[in-house]
Amino acid sequence: MTKSALISDIHANLPALEAVLADIQQYKPDRIICLGDVVGYGPQPRECLALVRKTCQHVLMGNHENAVLHGGEQFTPLARIAIDWTSQQLRDKEILQYLMSLTPKMALDGNLFVHGSVRDPMIDYVREADSPWMFYRLVQTLREQFTPFNLCFVGHNHRAFLGTELGYIFPHDDTEPPQMKFNLKDQKAYVSIGSVGQPRDGDIRSSWVMFDGDSVEFHRVDYDREKTIQLIHDTGLPSFLAERLRYGE
Ligand code: ZN
Repeated sequence: MTKSALISDIHANLPALEAVLADIQQYKPDRIICLGDVVGYGPQPRECLALVRKTCQHVLMGNHENAVLHGGEQFTPLARIAIDWTSQQLRDKEILQYLMSLTPKMALDGNLFVHGSVRDPMIDYVREADSPWMFYRLVQTLREQFTPFNLCFVGHNHRAFLGTELGYIFPHDDTEPPQMKFNLKDQKAYVSIGSVGQPRDGDIRSSWVMFDGDSVEFHRVDYDREKTIQLIHDTGLPSFLAERLRYGE
């Protein structure tokens, strides 16, 4: 069975990416899949992009990569400042050509991988606040669009959870026994894999997911947060982008 490690939303946080890749290595996956937003917000876009290209077999386009190519007009003022700075760092013909080759959606082995959601793979969010009814409708849409479809892996919302037809489930490693692994054989579900470089689900550790074809296992890894925070201050990016890493929101 093919073992895939999934990462997303690195957001130019190199210490977080390195910590996650080191953790992933212990599990010896057959491939690493990145669901996009390698750059944006953080201080090391070039380094993160180079490392992702070296280590990941599949890379999707996130809305931040898209904004580097086409401008971030629809971004919030804060994200706009960051994407303008990021675009300066990535002014390189080869890098831009690579970014242009990416797409926000990919089907692989009967599963679907998108940056955002099925409704819009680039910018739409899947949220756990979506009612079970909403999930049901989304799953129905998936059934119609992709056969045979099993699971849909999403990034973009920076929150790790599982969306099923019955509602959503948060993985927990602070319960006894910890519930981080879920068998999804023959089920339809959304797997929201969380963020490597800017988690927003209240857990400040980086998030990644292992998928073996039947089950998904959520992982959280700590990293040298102070290093990233210092680098954000050094580059002159908005300090909120550094401080939010302390809160995971
Ligand atoms: Zn993102």
